[in-house]
Amino acid sequence: MYERRSTRRISVGKVPVGGGSPISVQSMTTTKTSDVEGTLQQIYALAAAGCDIVRCTCNEIEAAEGLAQIVPRSPIPIIADIHHQYRMALAAMEAGVHGLRLNPGNIRKPEHIKAVASEARDRGLPIRIGVNGGSLDPALYDKHGGLTAAAMVESALQEIAYFEEVGFEAYKISVKASNVPLMVDAYRMLADAIDAPLHLGVTEAGPPPAGLVKATAGIATLLLEGIGDTIRFSLTADPVEEARAGRQLLEALGLRERKNVDLIACPSCGRAEIDVIDVANRAMEAFADRKLPLQIAVMGCVVNGPGEAREADLGIAAGNKRGHLFVKGRNVAVVPEDEMVEALVEWAEFINEHGTEAAIARADTARAEREAQRDRSALLDEKGEDANRSAERIVEIRRTAGDE
Ligand code: SF4
Repeated sequence: MYERRSTRRISVGKVPVGGGSPISVQSMTTTKTSDVEGTLQQIYALAAAGCDIVRCTCNEIEAAEGLAQIVPRSPIPIIADIHHQYRMALAAMEAGVHGLRLNPGNIRKPEHIKAVASEARDRGLPIRIGVNGGSLDPALYDKHGGLTAAAMVESALQEIAYFEEVGFEAYKISVKASNVPLMVDAYRMLADAIDAPLHLGVTEAGPPPAGLVKATAGIATLLLEGIGDTIRFSLTADPVEEARAGRQLLEALGLRERKNVDLIACPSCGRAEIDVIDVANRAMEAFADRKLPLQIAVMGCVVNGPGEAREADLGIAAGNKRGHLFVKGRNVAVVPEDEMVEALVEWAEFINEHGTEAAIARADTARAEREAQRDRSALLDEKGEDANRSAERIVEIRRTAGDE
């Protein structure tokens, strides 16, 4: 575990943020907030994918009215996203939301900011000060000679000063930018300056996979330094992908308890007996959001697969048109190649319910090991120890280089 920066704790509905609470995953709906049923459907899908807190835009009075119906039926707390119209913040609070996000770049009148903060204070609601590199106050842009980490931090500190003038302290802050090094600098600077919880994100990261890489680069760098209390992957994709990515990142860093399958797969090589990419993708789809906190391996061959993935709870390796299932490195069963994914799901469910020892106990391990050994030997006979022909290639490279 990494030593986390100590921050004040606030609450977004029932979700605690900061002060040593688990790091929460956020996302944002893409529906019109006035479409109550459509928005709720998306919220339920997000919650199932691991989202802890969801944000909905509140850009018009119909959206605020929609929120009044959505909030009581939502399984997770709702934050209203406010830009430009401070009155929408007041309407969203009246609708019962669990928190607000204000962009200091586009609600700039101190009296408006203070009116919202006073109302939130009286209602006991938190506010995120969401500074965004793309919509920074032009005055700060000019003062700092462009978009800099210091300019973003100053924007956040200005907003905090207005909040504190009216005695409002339940705030968290984000200083997002689409440029990863800039965003990392801004968060580091902010973390040194204040003890409020921080919400991390790389804004407008774009579509996956590039968007995933950018968001992960920024968010993971900061998390590994102990900075960050909530996170969002801002992807140009179905928001369910954002929630899944956020959850998976926290699980990969050991910052949240594993809830879903951790699928590992070999990268494939000349020895592969199956299309590893296809089987791994099908397995990923089959497990999707199933609540099975197991590590499951898909390996391309029975020669190296079971050994390389011996730490996995469950795995499958291909050999001679068959799938060799193994539990904690022990061979437990052999299934036809086209039933590999189904077999993984069935064994995973058994292990989740009864544990790995019970799974090994119910298997004919001696027979499974014999079969695996047979296919392993057959493959070694057929492809040899060096399936990638690397030794042969090296000889060839040396010969070519020597000829020059
Ligand atoms: S040796 Fe087997 S398990 Fe390892 S990468 Fe190649 S196919 Fe996959």
